[in-house]
Amino acid sequence: MMSMQIQLFLVDANCLYPCTIPISVDFLASSAFMETDTVAIIGPQSSGTAHILSHLANELQVPMLSFTALDPMLSPLQYPYFIQTAPSDLFQMIAVADIISFYGWREVVTIYSDDDHNRNGVTVLGDQLAERLCKITYKAVLPPDPTVTENDVRAELEKGVLALRLHTPDSKRKADFSARWNSLSNGTIGLNPYGLYAYDTVWMIARAVKMFLDQGNNVSFSNDTKLNNVGGGALNLEALSIFDGGKQLLSSVLQTNMNGLTGPIKFNPDRSLVHPSYDVINVLENGYRQIGYWSNYSGLSIVPPEELYAKPPNRSSSNQHLNSVIWPGGTSNKPRGWVFPNNGKQLRIGVPRRVGYRDFVEQVNGTDIVHGYCIDVFLAAIKLLPYAVPHKFVLFGNGHENPSYNELVNMVAADVFDAAVGDIAIVTNRTKIVDFTQPYIESGLVVVAPVRNMNSSPWAFLRPFTPLMWAVTGVFFLIVGVVVWILEHRINDEFRGSPRKQVMTILWFSFSTMFFAHRENTVSTLGRMVLIIWLFVVLIINSSYTASLTSILTVQQLSSPIRGIDSLIISNSPIGFQVGSFAENYMVEELNIPKSRLIKLGSPEEYASALETGRVAAVVDEQPYIDLFLSNHCKFSIRGQEFTKSGWGFAFPRDSPLAVDMSTALLTLSENGELQKIHNRWLSKRACQNSGAESDQLHLQSFWGLFLICGVSCVIALLIYLFFILRKFKRHSQQASEPSSHGSSSSARLQTFLTFADMKEDKSRSKSKRKRNNDLMNGGRNSNLPGMDPIC
Ligand code: GLU
Repeated sequence: MMSMQIQLFLVDANCLYPCTIPISVDFLASSAFMETDTVAIIGPQSSGTAHILSHLANELQVPMLSFTALDPMLSPLQYPYFIQTAPSDLFQMIAVADIISFYGWREVVTIYSDDDHNRNGVTVLGDQLAERLCKITYKAVLPPDPTVTENDVRAELEKGVLALRLHTPDSKRKADFSARWNSLSNGTIGLNPYGLYAYDTVWMIARAVKMFLDQGNNVSFSNDTKLNNVGGGALNLEALSIFDGGKQLLSSVLQTNMNGLTGPIKFNPDRSLVHPSYDVINVLENGYRQIGYWSNYSGLSIVPPEELYAKPPNRSSSNQHLNSVIWPGGTSNKPRGWVFPNNGKQLRIGVPRRVGYRDFVEQVNGTDIVHGYCIDVFLAAIKLLPYAVPHKFVLFGNGHENPSYNELVNMVAADVFDAAVGDIAIVTNRTKIVDFTQPYIESGLVVVAPVRNMNSSPWAFLRPFTPLMWAVTGVFFLIVGVVVWILEHRINDEFRGSPRKQVMTILWFSFSTMFFAHRENTVSTLGRMVLIIWLFVVLIINSSYTASLTSILTVQQLSSPIRGIDSLIISNSPIGFQVGSFAENYMVEELNIPKSRLIKLGSPEEYASALETGRVAAVVDEQPYIDLFLSNHCKFSIRGQEFTKSGWGFAFPRDSPLAVDMSTALLTLSENGELQKIHNRWLSKRACQNSGAESDQLHLQSFWGLFLICGVSCVIALLIYLFFILRKFKRHSQQASEPSSHGSSSSARLQTFLTFADMKEDKSRSKSKRKRNNDLMNGGRNSNLPGMDPIC
């Protein structure tokens, strides 16, 4: 036990003054309090001792300063009189956590001497690592006794390779001091950063004491009645006294603002030192090299922290830099931190023994060999890992129906399997017990239902408007025609003529506005006003009709009462699901569909027959299965949108590093297009065009009603025309009849009729009139063919 009361003469380049106040410099310090009235203590060296003595320092109100007891758990709240004058190990632990995260390591084994100081440090390290999503997987403890020699630890550290050293900025004062120290000690005693902190600590106290005295305070002590009552016995506790000015001296210490050998020294309000920083050292077999710095200000950098303080702090991951490291074995390749234990044991990989949709996973002819889309994805991913993963597939399921996938995942959690590979959906209750890789395919739930074509109706063109709408529209055409006629009649020649002609004008005018094809000019202001408003109405009616008819003929042509999950839920009809799937639970628990409505289906064939016979109104399943199903079954289609978002992944036990590495491999497969190729190989089948594609073309069926109307009107018009022209021809023939024409052949009569029908009406009419007059004058002797000019 080393204890001494000293009279300090603190020497500085600028000042020299004696300090005659008793100060204890005591690295074990346990008896410093006993010896004499003490106003401050430097020490103790170890945090364990500091935990004990700080209670006494509290009691006696004596500031205790240590630059080595840096346990982060020495709380200023619990020990207000204890001050760490070098950065607390909290910062060293933050630096270690930053380095671990910088190199991308996720799991750490800590080796430390099992004492208060180190144990607490490692606890803090655990907290810091957790913030960076890393963890301590194993704590290897060394007994805190002297049997572990420095050489033992050194030998270990030489295989370990990065270390942290308190950083002290280079300065002339530091260099001068080192030179002085070397000459004083004849170069026999080395100087490390703690030596510099020791020197600064002494100065810190000297300045604080000076400030204390300058403020007019006196050094006085009083008896501690509490300790007197306890009666210290051999410990002589009653000899201890309380330093009356302890509080003021403590506050003077905390107000320190000086430039020491270790750089600027100042305390933050939480009593930590400003700007804690470390050198990052790469320990080599015969020496070391510095590879950078860590500062609480900007994290890891290759420029000294004091240069960073001039810039704004930047802890972003892109701003973290260290020079290259020579790792054990002399390599500069970063150790990956975890290797797959190659102890000859194969990974047991559970694989569902599927019955339906065997393109995803299939057992080959009763053997233990499995293949399929999911297996190919797994094998391609595992090939990308930087280490070999010996594995064997173990089939799970009875072979009669698809197994329960929840059970398969449970078996991974229960350590029956080391992983599960297959079409396993990543859903909440499964992620609670295992770790999934990133999804390798999207697999939201969709509704599939039978569809019936509605575009077969030839009267579809009537459907855009209700009968009432048709009637009102028709009536309005007539009303507008009549109104315009009234307004124009007196001033517009085009609206005049015989009553029959005027009725025709009204009808023609009003209905031709439907196509903006009316020829009659409107001249009155009121007429034009009515017409322009009506044309606007017609425009709107026309566009609405077109839009509605388009959607009737295309979008809505697949008709099913089920339009998506919502209409399926309210329909109360039975719903099919794939046996073993999470879809069953989802529908019962999340959508509150009664279990009695759910019908278990095993294969695509069962889906088809259940949908066709109406055993189920719709099937709810994941998109990849339905895509495969629809590629072979054209009478069904997906109704509505995907109503859940999920994907398939491979399941690994909780915290398995394989899950992380496999995720990276899956992302690589997705980015280099390999995933798509595997998908195309197994799942891109197109046996039938889906019904959606068909809807792009319209069939005659939808329009023959229109053609019928047009055809019938043509025929009726022709028949009426024929009727009238025959009547006229008959009359004409009777008027023009002459003896020579009697008994002419029927072909000659047909020819005469055709010539008559071909002739322009008013011409034929005037010709026959002239002929009649001629006949009257000539007694009909010169007539030739009826209606023809006589040859002169
Ligand atoms: N992919 C479904 C799931 O993960 C399983 C499908 C099935 O039951 O076959 O739950």
